[in-house]
Amino acid sequence: MPMSLAAALCLLPCLAAPAPPQVHAEAVRVPQGGVVLLRTRTPGALTARLDDKVHPFFPVPGGGQAVMVPVPWNSPLGAREVTVEGGAGGPVRVPFTATPCQGPTITVKVPPSTAKLSEADQARAAREREDFLAVYASPEEGRAWTAPFLQPGGGRVTCGFGTTRRFNGEVQSVHRGLDLRAPSGTPVRAAAPGRVRLAKDVFFGGNLIILDHGAGLFTIYAHLSRMAVKAGDEVRAGDRLGLSGATGRVSGPHLHWGASIAGVDVDPLLVRKAMASLAGAQEPAARRGHRARGSATPPRKR
Ligand SMILES: [Zn+2]
Repeated sequence: MPMSLAAALCLLPCLAAPAPPQVHAEAVRVPQGGVVLLRTRTPGALTARLDDKVHPFFPVPGGGQAVMVPVPWNSPLGAREVTVEGGAGGPVRVPFTATPCQGPTITVKVPPSTAKLSEADQARAAREREDFLAVYASPEEGRAWTAPFLQPGGGRVTCGFGTTRRFNGEVQSVHRGLDLRAPSGTPVRAAAPGRVRLAKDVFFGGNLIILDHGAGLFTIYAHLSRMAVKAGDEVRAGDRLGLSGATGRVSGPHLHWGASIAGVDVDPLLVRKAMASLAGAQEPAARRGHRARGSATPPRKR
């Protein structure tokens, strides 16, 4: 193995056999809403755990396996660690630093009924949230994507992931997706291949589509004026899902694009970056790697 690769090892085997998995981490600093990208050449079933979520590694082209571990938008900041389990030699801990997603606070004007919800609307929104979680809890097996996300349509980002929005100066929420400039009627396309798991009118998202790309990865498209697919449909990357619009809680037409890994909302652009890294390089990038020592002691409970 070249020295540059050796330098990228973040976990080295203990001197005594059996050796724990050797895991490569792509970036030491990961923002809230980002992903910790881990790769390994260690064979066998491995999982990566952060908080109470467990993510299986998946095979990658060229050999080895990888996992994208989502860092929640409200993750504690500072020193954190992913625990890799499975294989011989006990769990290993991969440290990283969680950084703030640093969104600004903006004020958004929306119809009063969508800022201050009636009891019926609150109940509806809560039910719909349960529907989303049920979808995220039952992903398709296998990974449908091999290439990074395509741009789903529309133009520049008008409201980024992590922006705090004050609706009518009253309610506050953190934006867990991207808003893309899109006049009503702009074609909206699948960012990656997968299956339509949900296509329906919901309170906040309006006409909303959730695509399941397998292995826990989902993308979300909201506020559409028209939906051209239904639950159960299979789509290829770039297939038309519908047209952008201004349905749900909006101040005007745009395309809301979201991503979720195992039910953790993440920034689609940061997921795309990790996908590009996986698609473009078979070996870990030495300059961004770091080093830590494997541990045979049980991981701490969080
Ligand atoms: Zn949005």
